[in-house]
Amino acid sequence: MNLKLRAQLTIAFIVMVTSATLTFYHLSQEKRYVKERTERSSENIKMAFASIVEDTEQLYRFRTRATIEAKGVMEAMKKRDPELLYHLVLPRYTSLKEENPHLFIMQFHAPDGRSVLRMHLKEKFGDDIASRRAMLREIHKEHKMVTGFEGGLGGIAFRVIMPIFEKDQYVGALEYGVDSGYFVDRIKHLTGTDSILMIHKDWFGAADREKYTERIGQYYFSSELKDRKELIQLYTLKNPFLEPRHIDLKGKSYEINPLFLKDTKNRNLGMIISINDVTGVSQNTIDTIIDSLMVTSVMLIVLWGLIEYTFGGLIKKVNLQERYIKTILDSQKNIVVVTNGTELIFANQAFYDYFHYFSLEKFREDHSCICDFFEAGESDEYLMPSIDGLLWTDYLIQYSSKEHKVKMRMGENISIFTVHGKKMEYAGEIRHVVVFTDITKLNQLATQDVLTQVANRFQFDKVLEHSISLSQRYARTLSLLLIDIDYFKDVNDTYGHLIGDKVLKELAHILSEGIRKSDVIARWGGEEFVVLLPDSELSSALKLAEALRMKVAKYNFDPVKQVTCSIGVVRWNEGENSDQLLKRVDEKLYIAKANGRNRVVS
Ligand code: GH3
Ligand code: MG
Ligand code: MG
Repeated sequence: MNLKLRAQLTIAFIVMVTSATLTFYHLSQEKRYVKERTERSSENIKMAFASIVEDTEQLYRFRTRATIEAKGVMEAMKKRDPELLYHLVLPRYTSLKEENPHLFIMQFHAPDGRSVLRMHLKEKFGDDIASRRAMLREIHKEHKMVTGFEGGLGGIAFRVIMPIFEKDQYVGALEYGVDSGYFVDRIKHLTGTDSILMIHKDWFGAADREKYTERIGQYYFSSELKDRKELIQLYTLKNPFLEPRHIDLKGKSYEINPLFLKDTKNRNLGMIISINDVTGVSQNTIDTIIDSLMVTSVMLIVLWGLIEYTFGGLIKKVNLQERYIKTILDSQKNIVVVTNGTELIFANQAFYDYFHYFSLEKFREDHSCICDFFEAGESDEYLMPSIDGLLWTDYLIQYSSKEHKVKMRMGENISIFTVHGKKMEYAGEIRHVVVFTDITKLNQLATQDVLTQVANRFQFDKVLEHSISLSQRYARTLSLLLIDIDYFKDVNDTYGHLIGDKVLKELAHILSEGIRKSDVIARWGGEEFVVLLPDSELSSALKLAEALRMKVAKYNFDPVKQVTCSIGVVRWNEGENSDQLLKRVDEKLYIAKANGRNRVVS
């Protein structure tokens, strides 16, 4: 896996983890926030409820005083005259109902527990009502204001019952009752929250049956609020203990707060469920996730950009480095190539200059290997494409301590190179770096005689050894000529050394021209030359020697005119080494000299 991909995967992973963490964090924050807010709004509703109770008590305390203090009312009350009382109080009752349409009970009670007058139900009076209602028993006993919810003939009502005194004498009580809808209205007024009144099935009043037709569990609520049923059902389902709760439904969010309506005996009469639409105020889950995704998307883009930037820079740097190394390699005179064993992968400028190619592709079209150019020499000193079953590159590395040379021909030019190989691993592949150093000139100096340009004795020794070993191996033959100029000392003495040198050069030239391509001529010593004739029998060697001798003798050396030479000729005998062969040819030459010179002896 490359570095960039690895970095990208890491970033993707980090972003995913961050996204998940963020979402989780947001959700938990959101949950805490929702819980806190729900609690707060529940507190608000409770406080509103308490203040409504207080206000209502206050209101009817004042109203009671005004009613009782009105002329004739106290008398009619004491006399228990419902007819008179009704007429005295009616204007006031009418204005109280106007003041508060939820007021639906106004009743006078006698201390003995009987009803004196129901303003709302004039016809029914004198009944023992305290036996049925705990609140009345309490006020008749304690003579103190009693408030609270209680069920009665007309259904559940919030009642404020005020004691009536005449000079500290308890003369009865005045009761006001407001329906529960009063609280729904007041809560809306104080907190802006909508509420639903739910009445427990056991506390239906006579009028309630027609209105409260929708039912959830033990509770009935108004058919007008049918559309809330699903929400309340979900709320009760999720929350059987009916605590303040946040509910999401159909893309909307609500805070639900129940207020339980209990009578003084702690019986459950019903409840007011306030429903606060907090959609928009509250971020729902999907919004939260979208938020986190937005954040992480931005992160992803930024980090991705960073990677692109960094790696872009890195790649640029690598390219720069590549160019840098290429420049170094191109500035070399040595040919540097990289192969994977079979194919050329890289070559420096020296390569293109030497092989006259412009691109590696073109070279590969024409040649499968640089070794196509390798040539064999007179001896086995040069590397071949395949040696002892090894590819030349492998051979180079296996025998790295040896000095390897190759001979390559480009048209007429023959060049000699030393070759060094090194193995390396690159991107999981074995590669060979091969360096060719041109030693053509050096090689010439080492193997050629400077004066005459023919091979020197050192080189000749090598060639001779190789020739003998080939002849030995393949049952071939070879012959040898040793040529010595006659009376050369006299030439020097007469014409000087420079002329002597000139004679030597010309002679080497004449001899070189007179032999075959496969024959090797070398300068053996001072004015002696040796010629190796591979695959030559003695007879043909003799013929050649004779021809050479004649050629020399006929040649007009300037200014010496005539120079002659003596030649010893031998054929190699099976099993003979170079020393023995050379010794024999030397003997032949000696005989030629002794026999009068300018002759060939075998
Ligand atoms: P012969 O071989 O016929 O017996 O007579 P020679 O005079 O050739 O005999 P010798 O081998 O004694 O002399 C060889 C001479 O060659 C001696 C030396 O001055 C000369 N000589 C050897 N090398 C060079 C060379 O490089 N340049 C010149 N000018 N002379 C050389
Ligand atoms: Mg000599
Ligand atoms: Mg001589």
